[in-house]
Amino acid sequence: ANSITAYDTIAAISTPPGEGGISIVRLSGDEAIQVAQRVFKGKDLANVPTHTINYGHIVDPATQDVVDEVMVSVMRAPKTYTREDVIEINCHGGIVDTNRILQLLLSQGARMAEPGEFTKRAFLNGRIDLTQAESVMDLIRAKTDKAMQVAVDQLDGNLSHLIKNLRQDIFSVLGQEEVNIDYPEYEMDEVTGKMMLEKAQEVRDHLVQLLKTANQGKILREGLATAIIGRPNVGKSSLLNYLLHEDKAIVTDVAGTTRDTLEEYVNVRGVPLKLVDTAGIHHTTDKVEKIGVERSKKALGQADLVLLVLDASAPLQSDDRELLKATQDKKRIILLNKTDLPAALHPENLEALVTDDSRIIPVSILKTAGLDALEAAIAKLFFGEGIENSQSNVLVTNARQYGLLAQAKAALDEVITALQNEVPLDLVQIDMTTAWEKMGEVVGENAPDELITQLFSQFCLGK
Ligand code: GDP
Ligand code: ZN
Repeated sequence: ANSITAYDTIAAISTPPGEGGISIVRLSGDEAIQVAQRVFKGKDLANVPTHTINYGHIVDPATQDVVDEVMVSVMRAPKTYTREDVIEINCHGGIVDTNRILQLLLSQGARMAEPGEFTKRAFLNGRIDLTQAESVMDLIRAKTDKAMQVAVDQLDGNLSHLIKNLRQDIFSVLGQEEVNIDYPEYEMDEVTGKMMLEKAQEVRDHLVQLLKTANQGKILREGLATAIIGRPNVGKSSLLNYLLHEDKAIVTDVAGTTRDTLEEYVNVRGVPLKLVDTAGIHHTTDKVEKIGVERSKKALGQADLVLLVLDASAPLQSDDRELLKATQDKKRIILLNKTDLPAALHPENLEALVTDDSRIIPVSILKTAGLDALEAAIAKLFFGEGIENSQSNVLVTNARQYGLLAQAKAALDEVITALQNEVPLDLVQIDMTTAWEKMGEVVGENAPDELITQLFSQFCLGK
């Protein structure tokens, strides 16, 4: 941790690559203000008040060429994004122009920032903890309003606060035990044992609740992998098109989610659906590639949710039966499509085949009838008893957090069993301490360097 004391000055373009109305080049570090001053003509930045924005020009010190007309924000530590001195240069936004400013700063003593390094410094300087750092990334990648709200709340420290309070609870009884070891009396032990058991159960219950949110947290972060399946001509592409239009398509810049790849995201009432194998479903009228049962079955493998489309205007066919069978262990919603036509297949006909609690929803995708019920069913499936109706946005949003909290809970389970079996307190204390440590790791206490490096390297440049 001694590398934390002296920070060199880092620089990066913090706006997205490409042309824009303005671009921002950001500097952070001990010499941020001096480095900026070397290429700036205007006020003396060393003497302007903190948190001011200052008009001037960027000038190449070697040639005295004016590079751009700019506004320079000066923010002195500690009330900054990184807790270091921060400079933000607002320039005119051309690619060449912005890069030239960055190059000048690099030639004057700044170092090119690594991806996520600004946020990493905020973490290392203690401004945010690890769950908050993770939420910065979630915020960038949020696909729906709800996902964004969860990330914002986590950035505010909601999850951190909850965990810190639970840790405090554990710590209080650990402290108690320490006192008792100095005065080893049987009765004291009994009292402490009781207190420990109470606390362990209390904290454990909170952890169980928290762990239950992980599924929703994951879905909000990553999208719910959803396959639209059915035999040819039942209406799969029509459903896909409906989902992709109606302002539901989620435009994302996460690598590998562009239109020509296999994944597309849509927002159904706050549930981000990641549609799998849509390439198989997209087709044009002149080159009709009908997605068959085999391909449907393949898409199933990657799906957490299945939308199985059946044609209600025709009797059930063997392919339909096969797909009903193949999906019986999946979370699924069965759509009886083409209800605008005379019916040949009724929900009752499916009774023998659908014995689980899958929803069967009659729709006419052509006439956009029944699709509200479909959307409601999707939302209910995932947020039914969950966050949509509750006030709480405290969710476990990633695997790292989940893994550690699950370990903490397991340690508390040990504590509870041991206390119920009257195992000596100093042994119980070991598991209690483990729980305390694991929860500490969630917020980044004693986080290993590799973890920190790996985490922040996922950020984009300039963040
Ligand atoms: P896919 O092969 O499963 O992708 O099916 P399509 O979406 O391409 O639809 C096949 C045909 O059924 C097209 O001519 C659609 O216009 C038609 N279709 C889709 N949904 C409905 C519906 O709700 N009612 C009626 N009458 N026709 C539909
Ligand atoms: Zn189709």
